[in-house]
Amino acid sequence: MKLRDKLIQLKAEKKAILAANFYNFETLSGILQAASNLKLPVILQLSESSIRYMSLTVATAMAKAAIKEYAVEAWLHLDHGSSVDIVQKCLDNGFDSVMIDASEKSLDENIKITYRVVKIAEGYDANVEAELGFVAKLGQNQNEQKFTQPSDAIKFADGTGVNALAVAIGSAHGFYKQTPKLDIELLSRINKSISTPLVLHGSSGIPDATLQEAVRNGICKINLATETKNTFMLALKERLKNNNEIDLRIVFPDATQTVKELIEKKMRIINEA
Ligand SMILES: [Zn+2]
Repeated sequence: MKLRDKLIQLKAEKKAILAANFYNFETLSGILQAASNLKLPVILQLSESSIRYMSLTVATAMAKAAIKEYAVEAWLHLDHGSSVDIVQKCLDNGFDSVMIDASEKSLDENIKITYRVVKIAEGYDANVEAELGFVAKLGQNQNEQKFTQPSDAIKFADGTGVNALAVAIGSAHGFYKQTPKLDIELLSRINKSISTPLVLHGSSGIPDATLQEAVRNGICKINLATETKNTFMLALKERLKNNNEIDLRIVFPDATQTVKELIEKKMRIINEA
């Protein structure tokens, strides 16, 4: 099934899918082990920095091979594509889905660039996600947000025909300094204004009950990144404490296991919404 159709189905069922970023073979494997174990579909995401780290061809080939190996229903997605150029490269490499993030530009410019990407992606039958409003990025002030306005959402959906829309309703990327509060009332109004499936970015650290409320009010895709990196690295540090093991194949699987457990936990929370 195409991701576009999957998201439409999820929207109709008031359900959501987990979209998990991977950074290396270990995190990729942990995510797919979880999806395989729970027999749930998953979206595998690559940021531009992860693409730079692994190279586009290696990261793509590894993800595609791993999806087959674990026999999981999964899609490969570009997270926060910053230019038409990177979107084009990912589509040429066989990505199922791309995000074009022009959220820091004006509404009209965001519509223009997103529309352009939607037209390009049509030739690949690929899914396109965009962001409207502004979700603070890593290193940016979390209070500096621009919440998505329903009237803008209508204009954006009509002007772009985008397949999925990331909304700014109070979440932020990275770790939260205080427990985040989502504006569920605003989310509900956006959801009633447009038929486009909605996406929540910055879900690391959002309380379980809040995540579930977001799903019940129109969020169909939940992005998770920071918690995965953190979980993996904490487990690795713990494993290496007072330990001289130099065989990474003995050390890494413990950290991979904690990623698997994290992803299973998140998938259960989302699925039980
Ligand atoms: Zn994001």
